Amino acid sequence: MPEFAAYISKIKCKLDRNLSIKDIAVQKEIYNILIKSIPNGWNPLVSKRLVDFGVNSNLMHDSFAYYCLQLKGIQPHLRMSFIKTLTNGWHTSSRMHEAICLPCIFGCNALPDNCLASSSTTPLSNSIRDETAHYVSCPILAGLLTQAFGIENLLTLHQLAFGNDKDDHTGVLACATSYHVYHSLKFGNLPIIQKAIETGKFGLVRACAFSSARAFMSDFGILSKGTQMGPEWGPQGT
Ligand SMILES: [Zn+2]
Repeated sequence: MPEFAAYISKIKCKLDRNLSIKDIAVQKEIYNILIKSIPNGWNPLVSKRLVDFGVNSNLMHDSFAYYCLQLKGIQPHLRMSFIKTLTNGWHTSSRMHEAICLPCIFGCNALPDNCLASSSTTPLSNSIRDETAHYVSCPILAGLLTQAFGIENLLTLHQLAFGNDKDDHTGVLACATSYHVYHSLKFGNLPIIQKAIETGKFGLVRACAFSSARAFMSDFGILSKGTQMGPEWGPQGT
């Protein structure tokens, strides 16, 4: 790596001449040189995930640059929750290969046929699995989020991933809130989910999900309509 060799040689020259290198940020310089030479796996990974989720990403060749810009100003925890959603990072029973793979924890399998767009081709008996690819288009979770955010229409997959423009954070905040709602239910209220799956009655699960969404939005200063208050309103560095 010529750039690295040249830099080391420069340092060595200084040391050979007994010159101080105290004023040189060696660690930072070496980091910058090395990081440039490591292939960035973000773009192919995100393209693949978006296709898996059914989002057309053909027009976006450099999603890394896009998200660097779009996520600027969003609190770190919200940013990470969005990225984990976008890259299939939820701890679903399907992804974690748990002994029992759950159905959709919000009760899609218990809905009547005519409530699901895919009903004509999908048999309902536990066919909708506990997996992120479902949750990004789960009609029940989307409905809860729409209500919690106070927006009029369900967000499309494209809006969740990209917003309406680079300054629109609705999709990012909805994904971050969904991430929190799912994990607070799965890790904090699993018995309620199990009972709902057993009985086919998901009212309590949905009520918990809605409360969890509203509490999260309040904690992070997320307002109705999917905007975010200034950073002074939310916890920092969490
Ligand atoms: Zn669902």
